[in-house]
Amino acid sequence: MGTVKTVGIVGGGIGGVALAVSLLQRGIAVQLFERADKFGEVGAGIQMTPNAVKVIKAVGLYDQIIARGFLPNAVVGRNWKTGKENFRIPLKDSCETLYDAPYIHIHRAELHSLFADTLPAEICHFGKACTGVRQDADSATAIFADGTEFTADLIVGADGVRSIVRADLFGPQEPRFTGHMCYRAVVPVGGVVDYVSPDSVFWMGPNGHVVTYYVNGGKAVNIVAVSETAEWVEESWNSRSSREEMLASFPGWHPNLQKLFSQVDEVYRWGLFDRDPMPTWTKGRVTLLGDSAHPMLPFLSQGAAMAIEDGYVLASAVALHTNDLPAALAAYEAERRPRTSRVQLEARERGRTYHLPTPWQQFKRDFDYRMRAIFSPRTTGIKTDWVYEYDARRFGAHAPRMETAS
Ligand SMILES: Cc1cc2nc3c(=O)[nH]c(=O)nc-3n(C[C@H](O)[C@H](O)[C@H](O)COP(=O)(O)OP(=O)(O)OC[C@H]3O[C@@H](n4cnc5c(N)ncnc54)[C@H](O)[C@@H]3O)c2cc1C
Repeated sequence: MGTVKTVGIVGGGIGGVALAVSLLQRGIAVQLFERADKFGEVGAGIQMTPNAVKVIKAVGLYDQIIARGFLPNAVVGRNWKTGKENFRIPLKDSCETLYDAPYIHIHRAELHSLFADTLPAEICHFGKACTGVRQDADSATAIFADGTEFTADLIVGADGVRSIVRADLFGPQEPRFTGHMCYRAVVPVGGVVDYVSPDSVFWMGPNGHVVTYYVNGGKAVNIVAVSETAEWVEESWNSRSSREEMLASFPGWHPNLQKLFSQVDEVYRWGLFDRDPMPTWTKGRVTLLGDSAHPMLPFLSQGAAMAIEDGYVLASAVALHTNDLPAALAAYEAERRPRTSRVQLEARERGRTYHLPTPWQQFKRDFDYRMRAIFSPRTTGIKTDWVYEYDARRFGAHAPRMETAS
């Protein structure tokens, strides 16, 4: 099985559209199949860390993300009750120098449309719910609920945490409910306000944490408020909650948070699921990307970033080995699986350290933050230097590319 001329992508989330853009820029024909009737990223914010922004630069969308995004001053860890700073990692003034890209907050729908708007309409197919795949030595075929099929040299499952493609390749396996649920909301505040600092703020408390940051160019605040629960919570954007429920879940938390929560209009409850890292993502002519391959807890803000990196590396691998699909997919996995596995496991670990239940455990953790702030400032707080340093462009440096995505 040799040449890769056409790729079919199942799923048009951030990973799917990032892959489509990257393939087109490498001159590889692609068709994308999305279950929904249109692209529909949800109403929430997302943090794009420098490692993902490097890919956004590489595909030529940097000016657009800068125009729409918000650049936070720092990542700041605060005590849930007193608001005291446990750590502060400067971002705005240092990311570009340290990592060759800034750290950006943006609305998810805006991030998605950066990629999607460059795709020719005729390659995007909606209302196409994939029900399975089949393959032989010469091709792979995605099968859809409406009775249609699409055959290509390579099919990529970018269909999210409950991936049908993954289940078809490796058997059904429910993702693990992690015992965490989060409330997600965006509060329009009209501009930077004194009770929400212009940072990526992690409020760490017993059995929960809250992340706040500005989106919509600084006109609204995105809230991700995580708490532990014994109750199974659905992972769905249709699972509405209420301001009252949200306030009741964080009693005694800092007054600035209470003030922010009391302005929430629309709020959703979201169960958090993940899976263990997989030993492989590929079977023959079908592979996986993004959450379908490595769903993770959002505590390192890396799920979409990993999907974007995956897309760029997979397109580069295919372009480097156009006449040898097994070599392309082996190179893709060799580059991506170790990194995404480490991020998956580290994200789990963050869930533990952010939520330490007793004052003594919290004191020890915060003391450690203070020591590291003195002796190793770049590794303080959420210890993400190794995540941000990664540069997917190095992998793709020698792959042939077209001048524009069209
Ligand atoms: C609370 C929270 C906060 C987060 N914050 C961040 C952050 O700050 N930074 C970050 O990088 N990541 C963050 N993430 C993670 C990020 O949202 C996901 O990792 C990312 O969206 C995964 O992209 P994806 O394209 O792989 O999957 P998805 O976004 O799930 O897209 C999958 C697509 O496939 C489609 N689909 C599904 N099944 C089928 C089918 N059978 N046939 C056809 N189409 C199908 C879906 O409709 C969807 O469009 C966060 C996640 C959560 C829950």
